Amino acid sequence: MKKCPKCKELKEVSEFYKSKSTKDGLRTWCKVCNAKYNQEYKKSDKWKEYNRNYKYNRTHNDIDFYVLLNVRSRLYFSIKNKKKENTTIELLGCSIKYLKQYLESQFQPNMT
Ligand SMILES: [Zn+2]
Repeated sequence: MKKCPKCKELKEVSEFYKSKSTKDGLRTWCKVCNAKYNQEYKKSDKWKEYNRNYKYNRTHNDIDFYVLLNVRSRLYFSIKNKKKENTTIELLGCSIKYLKQYLESQFQPNMT
């Protein structure tokens, strides 16, 4: 038996999740309290913040997103500088391939 300091109830060991970081190999709080805590946590700003950061990181690790951003800014400059239409097509066609290769080489982790 183990006492949960959260709900102050004496519960069976099976009512606690296992944990590697505690002495007895069990979580401090019982399953019920953990579930309650998680529910509250998902309503909190901290969780929303975490979610926002997660989405942000995912978008910014996406190579295609980077390519799009790069092409967009290049297009913007080419339009701004009133360059020939050929340049725009080239930017969308050939350069996106090169750009992607370049970006992929930057993002690839060292596999060796
Ligand atoms: Zn509890």
